[in-house]
Amino acid sequence: MTNNKIEPFSLAAIVSPLLFWYDQYARILPWRQKPSPYQVWVSEIMLQQTRVEAVRPYFLRWMGELPTIASFARAPEDQILKLWEGLGYYNRVRNMQKAAQIVVERYDGDLPASYDELLDLPGIGPYTAGAIASIAFQLPVPCVDGNVLRVISRILEDRQCVDKESVKSWYRERLLDIMPKRRPGDFNQALMELGATVCLPKGAPLCDSCPVSSFCSSYAHQSIDEIPVKAEKKPRRKEELTIFLLFDHDRLAIRKREPEGLLASLWEFPHLPGKVTPLEAKAQLKNWGICAKGELKKLNEAKHIFTHVEWQMAGYSLTVDALSQNSHWTWATKTELVEKFAIPSAFSSFLNQALSLFP
Ligand code: SF4
Repeated sequence: MTNNKIEPFSLAAIVSPLLFWYDQYARILPWRQKPSPYQVWVSEIMLQQTRVEAVRPYFLRWMGELPTIASFARAPEDQILKLWEGLGYYNRVRNMQKAAQIVVERYDGDLPASYDELLDLPGIGPYTAGAIASIAFQLPVPCVDGNVLRVISRILEDRQCVDKESVKSWYRERLLDIMPKRRPGDFNQALMELGATVCLPKGAPLCDSCPVSSFCSSYAHQSIDEIPVKAEKKPRRKEELTIFLLFDHDRLAIRKREPEGLLASLWEFPHLPGKVTPLEAKAQLKNWGICAKGELKKLNEAKHIFTHVEWQMAGYSLTVDALSQNSHWTWATKTELVEKFAIPSAFSSFLNQALSLFP
């Protein structure tokens, strides 16, 4: 491969200073205190969704309700979706449950201590398999996520596009060459921790505090802002929606999304494509068989950004008199909205507005 200012064999020089730094500065996190393989698995998948601080309460709540793989395997889908509510990429948690069921059947409820067998489970890719194998089983397997790619590409001053699978594999091989036999899990976590807390993205790395700055070619050549090289992102498609908060006394209309596609099988508020006028809204309410008891009230607008699409949402609230007229809907109380139904964060602005509007 081209552009490496430090030969791959010398990358090994980062191992000791990195572990020394990790021993002093690693953040204390609930999934780092002698974690079980199951805890590593759940925390790593959650960490792929959001920031460490945001994962903490999700992880604790999850482990409180589903402390074992067996309990996860038999949990109702509504429960796991509720526990995942707000983390996004809900298919990941569904795949995790499929994997949990296989683990119960095939391995008596314990994750296998083998990288290849882990990789064979639904929803477990090279990164997650590497994390479980190294952190929980001390196997010398790398795990390469965005943080690791940023750190190593900067150290090597490597200008390959890190979004390519072939490049990720190339990095996995480089790291495999230098994995320490003793503490492979700590080494992987140290690299990720360095990326998350020191070698920060977007021109903000704290190189003066970096334990491996003396081995870093990008630091030496002041090319940090140019690395890592990433593929150009396609612009997101914009979609407009009009959301309806329809109240019948102390209940609000919600409905389940289709079983396939974006936010599959999660709960949502009735809505229409486009931003509709009050007149158009009233016509649609009639189509839905809804009898209005009051006037439409405009809600605050909101937007939500997914990977490929951005929702721009307007909304109306209305008191209705139609509790039994639309059989496709569920009428939820305030408590049920908070405790029972998984409503994705795309609708969180409207959920908050709904909670404040309940009588
Ligand atoms: Fe990242 Fe700076 Fe450390 Fe290089 S010296 S690895 S750019 S923080």
